[in-house]
Amino acid sequence: MNKIIFATSNAGKMKEIREILKDLDVEILSMKEAGINADIVENGKTFEENALIKARAIRDLADCIVLADDSGLEVDALNKEPGIYSARYMGEDTSYDLKNANIIERLSGLTGSERSARFVCVIAAAFPDGTEETRRATIEGQIADAPAGENGFGYDPIFYVPEYKCTTAQLAAEQKNEISHRGKALRAMKEVLRQRMI
Ligand code: IMP
Repeated sequence: MNKIIFATSNAGKMKEIREILKDLDVEILSMKEAGINADIVENGKTFEENALIKARAIRDLADCIVLADDSGLEVDALNKEPGIYSARYMGEDTSYDLKNANIIERLSGLTGSERSARFVCVIAAAFPDGTEETRRATIEGQIADAPAGENGFGYDPIFYVPEYKCTTAQLAAEQKNEISHRGKALRAMKEVLRQRMI
């Protein structure tokens, strides 16, 4: 059976990718399950570069197909901040209560479409033969006036999706996976894998 490593230590992401790729004939391993412990410096300038840096680094150690993701929040009125720095915004250890309050504060006075934002996710695949693929997907929304919802993580409580009239923190996990940047990018990469593995 083909083996794929997903370059993450995040249990939630592993669960999601296993669910999405379950009908492919592959075994999906986390870095831990593959016995790999690497500290990778994500010094790319784009989501694509960062996802590829991770996928390549692990592929070079493991010699099998490696997937990696990079994601973040782009707020149009903030010149697409925090973008690739989403996890590091205001410092890696700063709580999301503070990060979210800060973004809302910076948008004060703006209404409706002036508060437009999106979550971006890029999934990169590095193959043992040296070839690489990336797939990007987004979910469009607006920064809410106040945080709402208990589900999800990170910026979910302030990411309002007009179509659903709620934040992504107010959606059930399965609902979010169906419409999210990560779910869409993973499903696009699934098609690449399906073609490569036949
Ligand atoms: P990474 O791709 O795991 O490095 O995550 C980047 C950062 O983007 C996360 O730490 C969050 O701050 C933010 N982010 C990415 N996707 C989401 C999401 O679905 N909800 C909330 N925050 C997200």
